[in-house]
Amino acid sequence: MNLFTETNLSPDILKAIGELGYESPTEIQKQTIPFISSDIRDLIALAQTGTGKTAAFSLPILDMIDDSSRKIQFLVLCPTRELCLQIAKDIKNYSKYLPNIKSVAVYGGSSINDQIRALREKPQVIIGTPGRVIDLINRKSLDFSNIHWLVLDEADEMLSMGFKDDLETIISETPDTKQTLLFSATMSKEVERISKNYLTNPHRISVGSINEVKKNIKHEYYVVGYRQKKEALKRLIDYNPNQYSIIFCRTRMETQEVADFLMQNGYAADALHGDLSQAQRDTVMKKFRMRNIDVLVATDVAARGLDVDSLTHVIHYSLPDDPEVFVHRSGRTGRAGRDGISIALIKPEEGRKLKQIKSQSKIEIFEKKIPTGKDIIKAQVGGVFEKLFSEHENYFEFDESLIPDLSNFTKEELVGKLLQFQLRDLALYYENRNDLAEQKFSKGEVERDRGNRRERTRDRDRDRDRGRERKIRRKNEDMVRFFFNLGKRDDLKKVDVLDIINQSTKKPGKKADIGDIEILEKFTFFEVEKSFKNEVLSNINNKKFKGRDMRLEVAN
Ligand code: AMP
Repeated sequence: MNLFTETNLSPDILKAIGELGYESPTEIQKQTIPFISSDIRDLIALAQTGTGKTAAFSLPILDMIDDSSRKIQFLVLCPTRELCLQIAKDIKNYSKYLPNIKSVAVYGGSSINDQIRALREKPQVIIGTPGRVIDLINRKSLDFSNIHWLVLDEADEMLSMGFKDDLETIISETPDTKQTLLFSATMSKEVERISKNYLTNPHRISVGSINEVKKNIKHEYYVVGYRQKKEALKRLIDYNPNQYSIIFCRTRMETQEVADFLMQNGYAADALHGDLSQAQRDTVMKKFRMRNIDVLVATDVAARGLDVDSLTHVIHYSLPDDPEVFVHRSGRTGRAGRDGISIALIKPEEGRKLKQIKSQSKIEIFEKKIPTGKDIIKAQVGGVFEKLFSEHENYFEFDESLIPDLSNFTKEELVGKLLQFQLRDLALYYENRNDLAEQKFSKGEVERDRGNRRERTRDRDRDRDRGRERKIRRKNEDMVRFFFNLGKRDDLKKVDVLDIINQSTKKPGKKADIGDIEILEKFTFFEVEKSFKNEVLSNINNKKFKGRDMRLEVAN
């Protein structure tokens, strides 16, 4: 029996969702569908991607649209092009048997003229990203004066991506009589503020504690120092064979570096972040969906638009500041009835942050030791058999006469030989490596690992010369410290760094002060006078040094 029948949705909608295989409403749908159908109050719903929120707001609204009118009645605003396309696709599916309802998606990175042409068809439903919607308002292609329902989807993301002003402009184009429905994964301060300003006496719905929803996710964490992080990640990937996973990083640069490291080490990995063009992001997502790559390294924002249900693992390469983001990331695995594993790499000094995540989310997260080479080989052998027995197809016609005489070997010897062959490279790699699990973090080491290299340099200086340390600090206050992605291995010399900085800060009559330059093997830190910060960032980023892309960010 289709349990949606209790929701009063029309037979046309029930038929469409029946064909999509929806049998019973999800938690958020149980709460929002009756509310939206019968109440005119605004709504704040705390729910994340994967809870069925798109259907939760669009099913009742599609049923109430006046399809004899050709005015825009229903507007959905969302942060990214990918999400916009996803929602538009869902809405088209849900309205399959409502032939007079038309919907159009408008988003950046695609021809505005094509979208203007589509709008001439007079849709009643618009799904859009804020920037493009504003462009279309300015071109008089969108008229929101008859909007009945405004949905702000992933409001927290839209605000953290800097769409606040755009949202306010768009909202001001809509009538006061509309019903506003705000969906957000987290209730950040900005979301509170915008709710206060633009929602009237909203009804609040929150979909149960995430921990309850996601009992099928096992959470583990590994303590690892900054310098061993990538090696630890490699071991954890090797220890969990046949994985299909997202690795979350905090910055675009970190994302690219981790992806580069994995690709250089032979993994089918790639990066997804906001420094890539839309076309590059689309290609990466397509490759990931098709499983041409099985490890995707991504920032939180870029991963939002990716709707994949079969992830086996989520890896937190860097912990987020907000515990809700941790829960949200982890919830990307363990979907559609499968089990999932969430793995966090924790720096020695992040104990307090972890504690906060545990206590706020009420998730049990278990400490584990980085696997040894031996553990990894064992897991890999298991992985080979797992894969072997999950494949039932024959891909080519096998001619048994090709098998030489093997009568001198037992079955076990033969399997052993094949496995040795298959796992040779991995075994050789781990043969002489130290176990990371044996690392002990002394208090001094924890302290040293804390913060950035400037602090480390200062610590050393403090021991040597307190007076000098004070001078450095005073000087540092006027400087901004940058993290630069090139280092000694890119043949970068001090004179090159000076030249790059000078080129980027060319101003007649004024020269930027340059402070510490610390060229390390793979990257570099340098300091420049604060007032030149923006120039340095915009003039160095994305340019090339000896054929390599230069990437720069402010060191934290
Ligand atoms: P969303 O949270 O809107 O991104 O939805 C997550 C996924 O759940 C999408 O693939 C939807 O098609 C699917 N979905 C939504 N509602 C239901 C339902 N009641 N039963 C089964 N699948 C659903």
